Amino acid sequence: MFKPRLFAPGPTPVPEETLLELARPMFHHRTAEYRKMLEQLTADMQHIMQTKQAVFTITGSGSAAMEAAVASVVARGEKMIAVRAGKFGERWSDLGKTFGSSVVNVDVEWGTAITPQEVEDLLKQHPDAVALYTQHCETSTATVFDIEGIAKVVGKTKTLLVVDGITGVGALPFYMDKWGVDITVVGSQKALMLPAGLAFIACSEKAWKQIDATPPGALYNSLRAYKKSLATWDNPWTPANAMVRAALKSTGLIKAEGLEKVWAETRRRADALRAAAKALGLTLYSKSPSDSVTAINVPEGVDGEALPKVMANSFGVRVAGGQSQLKGKIVRFSHMGYTDAFDLLAAVSALEMALGKLGYKVEYGVGVAAAQKVLAKGC
Ligand SMILES: *Cc1c(COP(=O)(O)O)cnc(C)c1O
Repeated sequence: MFKPRLFAPGPTPVPEETLLELARPMFHHRTAEYRKMLEQLTADMQHIMQTKQAVFTITGSGSAAMEAAVASVVARGEKMIAVRAGKFGERWSDLGKTFGSSVVNVDVEWGTAITPQEVEDLLKQHPDAVALYTQHCETSTATVFDIEGIAKVVGKTKTLLVVDGITGVGALPFYMDKWGVDITVVGSQKALMLPAGLAFIACSEKAWKQIDATPPGALYNSLRAYKKSLATWDNPWTPANAMVRAALKSTGLIKAEGLEKVWAETRRRADALRAAAKALGLTLYSKSPSDSVTAINVPEGVDGEALPKVMANSFGVRVAGGQSQLKGKIVRFSHMGYTDAFDLLAAVSALEMALGKLGYKVEYGVGVAAAQKVLAKGC
């Protein structure tokens, strides 16, 4: 028997004190008690997103906030640009289509990042685009984009920059206001050490001008409705109030650790996993590898669809395989959130044993030793 260990890029492990909070008796939400909680969570999320703008807490998975970022921002027939560098970029494009926007799709080779120069050229071609939608980390390919550089070029135009920070915020250095990101979207079940069920979104003043002038394309996920309620620390609909109460435990842990330390430790775990892969003769899929999630190429001769299954079923380590065109070609490991150095060593060890079981020549411990050397430097 093995302990179940979550290494897929969402949902990620949740600390015990947060889980226990979810077991406490239910309470009413139209109360001063709840308003205080939402006020605190808003402040904590402002810190984690590095913004002074209001952060709205939406009930739903990350895609609910993505939907709000399209439906409340781009009117029917207006133009938007969707950066499609993987599965989550496709979601921006699908949302635009659903809400009747005129979508310009920019197809970026999977595993590579769009560059600020490419964005600059795009905006020259499409000066009438209301917004450019991208990821901070494209989780399907484990690729990080240079949002600071992209924000610099978008900031010179009328177009808004909308960033899906779902595997970025809370894991990678991210400064919404300082960089000049117009809309940031986050989900609870990746770097924030929470179950799925809450999504967060913040908008710049430039974005609010557009939102206030746009007839909302959705009722439930209307940003105007959220703004109106938050003025009295309230939600427009019944909130997931038990999740809000529990979220404060996890955001409290992030604050206690220090946001910059959380980023640095996430990076060290990523460095350790990359060192392990190299020592095992494995290569990374991404040309711009993220520190929040790593995609390792399945080596020649190994059944790539079996690898994550063996890791989970024989060793308890749940990683994710590839999606669509990457099915059977990569395995993806999260190192965000409530994961420590010893969890990572267990995952590397399980990777070695699963590879050995599937016929790959492994010298047991080589990957673990390489990872441990990197992790020991941080202790
Ligand atoms: C997980 C994830 C999402 C959100 O997906 P949901 O299933 O709705 O939570 C969106 N974008 C990225 C980059 C993600 O990693």
